[in-house]
Amino acid sequence: MALKPAEFKTDVHNDWCPGCGDFGIVNAIQMALADMGVQRDKTAIFSGIGCSGKTSHYINTYGVHTLHGRVLTFAQGAKIANPEMTIVAVGGDGDGLGIGAGHFVAAGRRNVNMTYIIFDNGVYGLTKGQASPTLKLGEKTKSLPSPNTNSNVNPIGLAIASGFTFVARGYSYDIRHLKDLIVQAVKHPGLSFLDVLQPCPTYNDLNTRDWYAGADLMDEAQKRHSRIYKLEETGYEPTVHYDSEIEINEKLSQALIKSLEWGNKIPIGVFYKNENTTPYTKRLQDKIPNYLENPPAKQNVSKNGHS
Ligand code: SF4
Repeated sequence: MALKPAEFKTDVHNDWCPGCGDFGIVNAIQMALADMGVQRDKTAIFSGIGCSGKTSHYINTYGVHTLHGRVLTFAQGAKIANPEMTIVAVGGDGDGLGIGAGHFVAAGRRNVNMTYIIFDNGVYGLTKGQASPTLKLGEKTKSLPSPNTNSNVNPIGLAIASGFTFVARGYSYDIRHLKDLIVQAVKHPGLSFLDVLQPCPTYNDLNTRDWYAGADLMDEAQKRHSRIYKLEETGYEPTVHYDSEIEINEKLSQALIKSLEWGNKIPIGVFYKNENTTPYTKRLQDKIPNYLENPPAKQNVSKNGHS
């Protein structure tokens, strides 16, 4: 029987700051799991280190709170060992695009059939708001003594360049839209990536909820308009329909160009989707014919732990 979103909640005390965008992301994940009718004992949430790392404690499935920057290695290993599990990895932008950047690129090349969600707030919230890899050059949040001296990483662009086969961006205060993106990402037959814009009201006073809502922007009629808009409402078509190099390159190029859009207009939605790829577990199956019947977790292990 399908579970309700509330049945994916735990009673672990939540100590995120009031107004943190993390709440919306966790709600969206719980709604998506219920929507897909997944079973708790067939689902695992892996988290990295940071405020978002606590997510695995707040979702009532299997949960693994891993190491800083290493969440993708744990999550990919679990999927390879247990191909039937639904695996979702989560972490902050500092975790995944700073110390974890090498694993991010390597994961894109493998295309393990799982989902990675980055909680993107521009700061290292858990350690008092240092500049993270997505904060723009020259920006100064209230937690910094001087403007940021580094250029930013473009998470969508890096995912596209690394080989992720589903690449999307959501917003933590548009929970229903985010839930739909998570459902699409989890159902995608390959490695899916979701960059979720997430205000950190405690340390990032630039990319606030009001800023995303365009409180400072006025159109010709002197009405404010949201910075955020949905790609699917503009006729943008992210899907590769044919196993054609020409079409793949066209879709990759348009996604890369779209990923550079930032400022007064910020796109959310699916940037790129290609279902005609071979997931890593299938690559292994082709190489090791009985892989799915006998994945690594079930292979003989001797008493001293060596196979
Ligand atoms: Fe959220 Fe920022 Fe507080 Fe962390 S420090 S819980 S990201 S508001």
